[in-house]
Amino acid sequence: MPKAQETVLEIDLSALTHNYNYLKSKLQPKTKFLAVVKAFAYGSDSVEIAKHLEKLNVDYFAVAYVKEGVALRDAGIKTPILVLHPQSINFNTLINRCLEPSIYSNHVLDEFIKITEELDVQDYPIHLKFNTGLNRLGFKDKEIENVVSKIKHSPSVKIKSLFSHLAASEDFNELHFTQFQIKTFQHIAKQFENLSGEKPWLHLCNTSGILNYPEAHFNMVRSGIGLYGFGNSVEEDKNLKPIASLKSIVSQIHTIEKDETVGYNRAYTSQGTERTATIPIGHADGINRIYGNGNGFVVINNKKAPIIGNVCMDMIMVNVTDIECKEGDEVIIFNSEYKASNLSENAKTISYEIITAVSQRVKRIFLS
Ligand SMILES: *Cc1c(COP(=O)(O)O)cnc(C)c1O
Repeated sequence: MPKAQETVLEIDLSALTHNYNYLKSKLQPKTKFLAVVKAFAYGSDSVEIAKHLEKLNVDYFAVAYVKEGVALRDAGIKTPILVLHPQSINFNTLINRCLEPSIYSNHVLDEFIKITEELDVQDYPIHLKFNTGLNRLGFKDKEIENVVSKIKHSPSVKIKSLFSHLAASEDFNELHFTQFQIKTFQHIAKQFENLSGEKPWLHLCNTSGILNYPEAHFNMVRSGIGLYGFGNSVEEDKNLKPIASLKSIVSQIHTIEKDETVGYNRAYTSQGTERTATIPIGHADGINRIYGNGNGFVVINNKKAPIIGNVCMDMIMVNVTDIECKEGDEVIIFNSEYKASNLSENAKTISYEIITAVSQRVKRIFLS
């Protein structure tokens, strides 16, 4: 692997293939695979990730917002794209770029039907989202009759799928709640089929749902974090490979004497003669200020160097008193060995937040 000479996010596409194949191996052959590539494919690069997954014949993509789907279409992605949380101001663009909306409320359904009628389109594919307990987005089960009758009178749209989202699929303490969500979803699907006479696809599982609830895969699964190498458990993390490595270099080394201070607000005071290294990555690159003052660390020559003082916008300073290193040496913020989920033992966050935070200023490099 090339040594970093500036701050880079290295993305290993062979690890992506590995994760995709591993997750696919958990499915029945007929079950479709939707890859969630929202938020720049969880902080990596949605276009390169989608191109790679398209080559692997993934069935569907999902993004959160219309703008994210447009970026994929601009890059030539042809696979169907579900937009999980579109706003009606963007419905014209959505239709124009062949993106498929999640419809989660009567208000949104009415607005979407109105636009499809104005544009004189027929059978536009839509996906109905039901709320089975997350209480974030979705129709309540009680609303089914109303929704079905509205759609029966609207030839401009066609229900491609019904879906819902699990609240705690990674947490076996919530086993009963998850089972309740699965039952509720099955009940909704049955009612929908009875009332409409149609059998749209059904999908419920995110990554942890795929791994923990094989009985709930239905026609399709939606995976995000697993593709990027995290399984939300110690056991499953062993089967997956983090695709992204965040690396930088040592810009400068200082030797400071006892009682000298480091960084803004003089937040760190040296305990004796110490060596510090300045690294060109800061809170504008995704290193949250919470990691300052000893809460986070980087790795230099296989040793952990704690972040000292406050995280600056463009830089951090780390303590390298006990580490043999020199200016220009490579610095690992996270990789497949020092995982993003451990970047800080004290930050009380999750892999999702750390990897999606890597800002667009950081150069992306792709390894095949
Ligand atoms: C983000 C998202 C997913 C992906 O979840 P992971 O835990 O990353 O696999 C699936 N479905 C919906 C509705 C989402 O918003």
